[in-house]
Amino acid sequence: MPHLESDVLVVGAGGAGMYAAIAAARAGASVVLLDKSLVGRGGATVMAQMTVAAALGHQEPDDWTLHLADTLKAGRGLCNEELAELLCRGGPERILEMDAWGTRWAREGGHIKQETAPGHSRKRCCYVDFLATGPAVAGTLRRKVGETSGIRRISNVAVVQIAVKGGRALGAVGLSVRDGRLATFHAGAVVLAAGGLTRLYARNSASANMGGEACALALEAGAELVDMEFVQFFPIGHLAPRLVGMDPIMWDPFRYKLGGRLLNGRLEEFVDRYGGTDFGRYTATRDLASYAILKEVEAGRGSPHGGAYLDFRHIGEARLREAFGPVIDRLLANGIDLTKTPVEVGPIAHYHMGGIRVDGKMETRIEGLYAAGEAVGGANGANRLSGNAITEALVFGERAGRSAAARARSGAPPWEASLAEPSIERLDALKKGKGSPGAAWPAMVQSELQRLMWENAGPFRTGGKLAAALERIREMRDELPDLRVGAAGAYNLDIQDWFELRAMLLSAECVVQSALARRESRGAHQREDFAETRPELERNQVLELRDGRLCSRWITPMGRVEADRG
Ligand SMILES: Cc1cc2nc3c(=O)[nH]c(=O)nc-3n(C[C@H](O)[C@H](O)[C@H](O)COP(=O)(O)OP(=O)(O)OC[C@H]3O[C@@H](n4cnc5c(N)ncnc54)[C@H](O)[C@@H]3O)c2cc1C
Repeated sequence: MPHLESDVLVVGAGGAGMYAAIAAARAGASVVLLDKSLVGRGGATVMAQMTVAAALGHQEPDDWTLHLADTLKAGRGLCNEELAELLCRGGPERILEMDAWGTRWAREGGHIKQETAPGHSRKRCCYVDFLATGPAVAGTLRRKVGETSGIRRISNVAVVQIAVKGGRALGAVGLSVRDGRLATFHAGAVVLAAGGLTRLYARNSASANMGGEACALALEAGAELVDMEFVQFFPIGHLAPRLVGMDPIMWDPFRYKLGGRLLNGRLEEFVDRYGGTDFGRYTATRDLASYAILKEVEAGRGSPHGGAYLDFRHIGEARLREAFGPVIDRLLANGIDLTKTPVEVGPIAHYHMGGIRVDGKMETRIEGLYAAGEAVGGANGANRLSGNAITEALVFGERAGRSAAARARSGAPPWEASLAEPSIERLDALKKGKGSPGAAWPAMVQSELQRLMWENAGPFRTGGKLAAALERIREMRDELPDLRVGAAGAYNLDIQDWFELRAMLLSAECVVQSALARRESRGAHQREDFAETRPELERNQVLELRDGRLCSRWITPMGRVEADRG
């Protein structure tokens, strides 16, 4: 079995992972940077096209404390204040460092241009024109990773297990997508930066590798998860017609800026039926827009793809061209002429506020195991401000990489071949069994899980639907050994799908179990059967595995004066 040694192993090469690798290497560590996809081209970072929030104060006076106040307000009492502070305080330094590394932030009169976005009290959102922020951030970091000595990049290896001995992380086991073989990675410290879990949902803005593997890997390694019920649903994600190479959440700023009309399948305006006053202004809040669209669909008045129409036809071509800039031509290349036809939109899963529980050094309760980026839970509490996620990836990535390098300097216990046994046994059983004839393929079960999560644990939840989802997810976990996988080892995507599904099911169970236990509505977690916010539930839920069982407890949000009541 191939085996590699390094001081620091970074799992996942999005914004957080690449920054972690750079920070660890400049602290003198040798680094292995692994990704299931191509380094720097998988996950969410490269897809994000809008803004990055940082209190630079270039556009108007601003301060990280004001950014923090806005972040805490959006988090509805559940932010881990220590992490939120790190995010807001550290944002400007990272943005300016990226600037020095060549990210072409939009500028005005020589300074970095900053705009407002919903929930921000100041103009503090930077971007790269036009809708190119994520690709520019990922491109800068890819280049910097390539220029930094001491970083070995490995693409197409999916980590399937974090190796832990005696409460100390020692590395990981990876599955090579190319040859279907396992490989082991020994390191003095491991940074898990494998992104979020929005691909658990049938409707999502995610790319292929966002099925919650980071959370599942951390949980199985003995770390804790926090706030897993808080999934952010974006109200007007793109549904149809097909949109290639463009951000599915791109419509929101244009709707606000220009006043896009929301119409149901009968081309009637409907938002006002749900308590808004949208007519004539077309700026209904995000939660109201989500609710109204889903209720119209439920009543059989949705658009053909199960959403609503977003219509800009009442706005003249000149104004559209001025607002959309070159984006209008990219839309035309996709066959979308906004002057002639509306597009279909609806709520889609977009970001996960919950995730791996870490301290201020980004370390989990497993010594030597760090986490960074969207995989980390807590900084954004019950809801996230727009632009905070890329900042979180950059700030937490840098911090995790630096902390991991420091940990690795104190040396690592030796590797033991037996550490990889759980993964070897799983793979052998899978190859031998190949599933019973007639059994489902892992990819089919992934689709079933996505539909189940969308229908039962989506933007508006009830106890009954969540309980049904939990039961079915547990059955699906029991059925895992019987699934079919193709015989060939090389390029066997069934095997990769199987390991991915295994992680997806565990993360899905965490989301649903936590959502069921939170009998209130708060931020992004909306219960139709418990519509009120309950002050006594201003608590975070922490999950851990005990003897293979998922156990939860409530704690006081971290960084508060009150002690952990766990
Ligand atoms: C369409 C879209 C638009 C967005 N727009 C914005 C925006 O405008 N502003 C903002 O602040 N945020 C935005 N976000 C959110 C933000 O982009 C993400 O939260 C952030 O980029 C996450 O960075 P990350 O490095 O933690 O994860 P990612 O960038 O998702 O990287 C994770 C990496 O881990 C890899 N990986 C996964 N599993 C494994 C495994 N088992 N083994 C090895 N590798 C693995 C993946 O291939 C991927 O490369 C957007 C998200 C999406 C999807």
